[in-house]
Amino acid sequence: MVLDRTAFEQFLAQLGRGIQLVAVSKIQAPGNILTLYEYGQKDFGENYVQELVDKYEQLPKDIRWHFIGHLQSNKVKFIAPFVYLIHGVDSEKLLVEINKQAVKNSRVIDCLLQVHIATEDTKFGMNEEELANTIANCSGLKNVKIVGLMGMASFSEDVDQVRKEFKYLKLLFEKYKATSSENVALRYLSMGMSNDYKMAVEEGSNMVRIGSLIFGARPTF
Ligand SMILES: *Cc1c(COP(=O)(O)O)cnc(C)c1O
Repeated sequence: MVLDRTAFEQFLAQLGRGIQLVAVSKIQAPGNILTLYEYGQKDFGENYVQELVDKYEQLPKDIRWHFIGHLQSNKVKFIAPFVYLIHGVDSEKLLVEINKQAVKNSRVIDCLLQVHIATEDTKFGMNEEELANTIANCSGLKNVKIVGLMGMASFSEDVDQVRKEFKYLKLLFEKYKATSSENVALRYLSMGMSNDYKMAVEEGSNMVRIGSLIFGARPTF
């Protein structure tokens, strides 16, 4: 069940000013997205390319669509015409492909570099060295702009571990924020989901990706 307007406004109020909410709408019906849109929410996050394209076609054109899932290079072309921000850029190769598709669409596409901060190997993201190399090598990619970092903490009850991971990402964010160039200007630190966003915000997140807390549990088929 989607939050009603009052509950949604309370949610935004406790989240605090300056923290951008990306409402994660994967697997949610377009009608639920419209409900939040009518409350004034404009930023939505999706994980699957085909689902995102379908929803883009059906829903109001001033929605800012964030791609937050794992993006395969061969699918960039489908979202390049309209995507607002790609959160999960986890390789230089992917960034090169995004740049190529951005050129074709005469756009500059904003990207976040995803850093692997969790203990699980299954999660995607760059290590520190790959991050450094990507930032050092991207100056020729004129049609992408690196505007921040994204990370997913371990799915764990160990709050000390999760906090440590957020602190680590914040440290990297501060480091690269200081070394900006033409197409690197870090503004967004995308970390925190329904179960850990409060801690993420305490540790410096300014963009949270929240699904189940505002939409209710995701439907299963
Ligand atoms: C699904 C998802 C979220 C939101 O998860 P909730 O637990 O429903 O808030 C956030 N980020 C990513 C990358 C996701 O895949």
